[in-house]
Amino acid sequence: MFNDVKSPPSPQSIYLDCYHITLLFIIPTDKLFSSAFRRPLPSSLRLTSLAAAVPFAAAAFITRESTTPAATSTIANTLTKRGMHSKVVIIGSGPAAHTAAIYAARADLKPVLYEGFLALGIAAGGQLTTTDDVENYPGFDMIKGSELMDKMRAQSEKSGTEIVTQTVARVDLSKKPFRYWLHPMGDEETEEEEEHTADSMIIATGAKARRLGLEGEEQYWNNGVSACAVCDGGLPIFKNKPLVVIGGGDSAVEESIYLTKKASKVTVLVRKDALRASKANARRLAENPKVEIKYNTTATKITGEEQARGLMTGLVIKNLKTGKEEKIEANGLFYAVGHEPATHLFKDQLKTDEDGYLFTEPGNCKTSVEGVFAAGDVQDKKYRQAITSAGKFSSIS
Ligand code: FAD
Ligand code: NAP
Repeated sequence: MFNDVKSPPSPQSIYLDCYHITLLFIIPTDKLFSSAFRRPLPSSLRLTSLAAAVPFAAAAFITRESTTPAATSTIANTLTKRGMHSKVVIIGSGPAAHTAAIYAARADLKPVLYEGFLALGIAAGGQLTTTDDVENYPGFDMIKGSELMDKMRAQSEKSGTEIVTQTVARVDLSKKPFRYWLHPMGDEETEEEEEHTADSMIIATGAKARRLGLEGEEQYWNNGVSACAVCDGGLPIFKNKPLVVIGGGDSAVEESIYLTKKASKVTVLVRKDALRASKANARRLAENPKVEIKYNTTATKITGEEQARGLMTGLVIKNLKTGKEEKIEANGLFYAVGHEPATHLFKDQLKTDEDGYLFTEPGNCKTSVEGVFAAGDVQDKKYRQAITSAGKFSSIS
């Protein structure tokens, strides 16, 4: 399975058993939603809060459970800055990343998995953490998306994977060993100085929800507008209110049905004259009495309260066949218009297809650079399912 993985030039000398990271939780004060913080830290991480001294921010040290108080105080003095070399580094935290981790760990390759800290604005665990019930993952009649990902993460760790809750900021795949740099926790703007190296890399960075860039989107983003109904739909501002979902795929259907539990009505805007969702999902949507589907329809403008942090209250929609526009009442707008593969780190380094998905050789996970593999939604524009993402990696040969 790992025929392409070369032996390291030097033994992996530094492990993450003394891994520790300073984390700043900045409490957002200008937006209502907190979907980015929706998932609790993994239970394997312990949090020692230093919050008392820091208003509006809680500074915390995350340590492995084995870290002693003495070690923790050493951590408090300085952030350790050490380059690390690994045989296999995995970037990502969804089903593809964890399958890769389990296989690599069982092959005694001592994988290090960077699960990201709100990478792409998604909690570690990937897209499934943004959904509610998963009903098509074999072995589980029904399981919460977050619970499934917690199980996968636990299995990765149990297999011997080191999991690091940091986001990879940059990679250099031009020569071996491959080099990479990390973002400090929770900071997308800067990157750490120290460089790390790896003999091989598995990319499982998944995909990110698309936005439409409608007029008013920036103003009302997180104040009525969201790309994750399951994360934000439970907020009191949506209770018994008319809500709108844009999209016609499985996500749009599931998110709309989820929203009907709270909303007075859910209007689904579909740009074509048919849903793209599975037949079963399409039927469920059509049968829901709280749902109105408007085909051949899109939105053009989000309206609402004018003051700072004002909420959205309406939406201008347009019939794409007649060109007719009308304003409807809407206190929430949820995008479910698909995802972009998360490939920005690899731009100009790895071959992609015309839609930006990483190229992999037919029948395996090899990318255009020897020693770099890709699995999951980042390279699969067709199936984009948890089970296919998980299944892809095992096909490396
Ligand atoms: P992802 O799940 O996309 O995870 C990748 C993760 O890697 C990122 O989210 C991020 O946390 C991390 N990451 C990204 N960049 C970096 C970086 N630079 N450094 C570190 N970490 C990084 N599929 C089903 O089979 N059944 C369902 O019921 C189902 N429901 C869904 C509901 C919704 C709302 C959505 C959006 C999708 C659903 N899917 C479902 C599809 C499924 O979630 C995806 O196919 C699957 O999660 C893809 O897995 P992945 O491992 O490729 O990556
Ligand atoms: P998707 O299948 O790509 O659907 C995106 C939808 O958004 C399509 O209806 C598309 O319209 C519409 N859209 C795209 N751009 C738009 C725009 N600019 N304006 C208006 N509408 C626009 O994405 P998804 O629903 O997120 O699903 C992604 C994958 O996850 C799929 O493989 C899906 O099966 C899977 N998934 C599965 C489940 C499940 O199995 N239970 C649940 C959720 C998701 P067009 O159809 O006109 O292109």
